[in-house]
This record gives sequence, C-alpha cells and structure tokens, in this order.
Amino acid sequence: MNRTILHLDLDTFFVSVERLLDSRLNGRPILVGGISDRGVVAACSYEARAFGVHSGMPMKMARNLCPEAVVIKGNAGTYTKQSELVTEIIKEGVPLFEKASIDEFYADLSGMDKFFGSYKYASELRKRIINETGLPISFGLSVNKVVSKVATGEAKPNNQLKIGFGLEKPFLAPLSIRKIPMVGDKTYLTLRNLGIKQIRTLQEMPRDMMSTVLGKNGLTIWNRANGVDNTPITPYSERKSISTERTFDRDTIDVYRLRSILTAMTENLAFQLRRGEKLTACVSVKLRYSDFQTCSKQMKIPYTSADHILIPAIQDLFNQLYNRRLLVRLIGVRFTHLVHGHYQINLFEDTQQSIRLYQALDKIRERYGDRSVIRATSMGVRTIGRMTNPFNGDPPIILAHRKQ
Ligand SMILES: [Mg+2]
Repeated sequence: MNRTILHLDLDTFFVSVERLLDSRLNGRPILVGGISDRGVVAACSYEARAFGVHSGMPMKMARNLCPEAVVIKGNAGTYTKQSELVTEIIKEGVPLFEKASIDEFYADLSGMDKFFGSYKYASELRKRIINETGLPISFGLSVNKVVSKVATGEAKPNNQLKIGFGLEKPFLAPLSIRKIPMVGDKTYLTLRNLGIKQIRTLQEMPRDMMSTVLGKNGLTIWNRANGVDNTPITPYSERKSISTERTFDRDTIDVYRLRSILTAMTENLAFQLRRGEKLTACVSVKLRYSDFQTCSKQMKIPYTSADHILIPAIQDLFNQLYNRRLLVRLIGVRFTHLVHGHYQINLFEDTQQSIRLYQALDKIRERYGDRSVIRATSMGVRTIGRMTNPFNGDPPIILAHRKQ
C-alpha cells in the first residue's frame, strides 16, 4: 500500500521567531548565534545567505562577509516555547506525528481519504500554523520521508509542494546530489570526483556500483536517489525518556555524596543524548526516603544536551526536593521531551572552543567508555552503569538500578 507522508519545516526558525518579536528585522540580513568573536552562527536569514554566510560558520567570519547584518544573541527558551506551540497545533491535527527536530515534523497521512484529501488537509494545517503562530512554514507531501523532505526544501521559503505518486524519480532527477539527505561533505566530494552532479546520474548508475564506491551507505543513497525509502514515522511522545537511578545498599544522608551522584548521572545521560543526537526540554529528579516515601520534581528547560546547563538544573531540583532530614534510599535523574538535534540550540552561549571541548570529550568516551572522562566532583562515584547507545536501535542493557 502506498503511504502519504507529510514533512513540515519551519523556515529559518530562529530568525523567524526574532522577526515575530521585532518586525523591524523583516527583510534584513540577520545572524543569530554567539555574539562574541569566538561565537558561531546558529541561524541566518536568506538575506544573509546571499553574502555566503551559513550556519555553523564562525561569527567573526560571517560578520566580515556581511558587515551590515544584524547580529542577535539567540534565546533558546523563546525558541523552545515557539516550537512547542507549533507542536501543539500539529498534535491536535495529526495524532501520529514525528518531531524530527525543534523545527521539523513528519506525519503519516496515509488512508486520509484520497491523495487530494491529504494535500488539502496538509495545506489547512500549514495555514493554521501560520495564522496561529505567525511563523512561516513549508511542507512537502509524497510517498515517503526522503522525497517529502527534499520537496520541502524545494518549496521553501514559505510554500508547499506535492509530489504525485510515481513522479518521485523525475522530481529528483534534475536536482543536485547535495539535496539527498545523508549526502554530506565527504560523500558529495567522492561523488563529484566521479563527475556526478545531478541525482539523475545516480538513478542511471547500476546499484552495485554505488556500493562499490560508497560501501553500505551507497545502497541507501542509491535508493534515495530513486525515490525509494521505507523509513517509518517514529511517533513523538513527550513521555519518551532516558533515565538512570540508583538504590543504595545502605541508606545515606550524605548530601555531598548525593550531589556527586546526581552530577555523575547527569553527565552520563547528557553524553547519551549527544551520542544519539538528541536534545531534552524537561528534566526531573526522583528521591526515595528510607521510609519509602517517594517524591519527584520536574522542570521544563530550553532544548539542550549541554552538561553546563543540565547539571545546575538537576542540582536545583534536588535542592527543592530534599527537604526532610531523612536517610535517602534511592535517587534518579530523567530527561524527557526528547527531540532530534545537535549543539545548534546552545550556540548562543557557546563558543567554538566549548563546542570542540564537548566534541573532544565525547570522542574519548566513545572510544574508552562512558566514564573515561568525568568531572572532578563525580570522581568518587562508582560506575553508574555502562550504557550502549540508547538511540541506535540496539536493545539497551538493563542494569538493576537503571530503568529505560
Ligand atoms: Mg527549519
């Protein structure tokens, strides 16, 4: 059976939110990101892109390329709230959807009467989002996620595009191979060196040749170039979480120790988030006293995967929670409201240096284990459980004191 997959993507999301707050920014080149010289561009307007600026670029370089740009230090809290507003509208309209990132959604509209019906429905949903939030958004509609995502890209800015069933290949053919999701800088170069520029050329190539050139990814890329993709929608649930907890052999009232353990747990979960390319927008702490009274407290935070934001939030919750002078039997940390995403959202605070620091630390952890690099404060803490990547589809190893 053919599916009908909708891909929705807010246009230059951070920039659009800033323009919502200050209409004088309309039509001007905008750079959102870290404003120090060591900062990084997290997002830029189309007007700025015309100067060769792109996200991920050092702010200093962007300013040189486009001196007249308005530079704005982003606000993760505001963007998170706007993202949640959009999520609520989509949730009302489509019960089964995937929140692919802070500004990107997939929905399965299969079976929603005929294809025309789904297109009409998608158009109305888009209109509703624009009317209720004031944010420009584009969509692509087709038989699968890949073609819809490419279609959204072609529709932008602030537009929509439907690829009728059977027209996937001709739609993709004239486009640059760059447009295929998964073709990064490295793959692009490899293919360009072979003289391949357009998707059409990939479509005409024998499948086997692709795997010879690009290995396992070659086959997936060949399929995508041919408009073939069976990836299902991963339903979004705010309850989806990663967590860790510890029950003590002997109940404790050592607050210093409890804090160290919470820091170690947070550090570890944050690493798991980054490894799975995820962000969280809600953190909670759980506490069980020796009399078995259990309490927990949660806090909404701007989307993040950064230790230096998560650890203070967790410690703050613990302060609010720990109010009985009683022995503690169990503590735990949980992150919910998970979405796909990178460092991008924290780029307003972070400098290139701190981003590289996280990347370097995580690389060491990938190689030598979760706890090979840790904060001094959590050094006394026993291993809180080695984890496999909770997001790569492998079944997690469930330890006695850890619940998935
Ligand atoms: Mg977007």
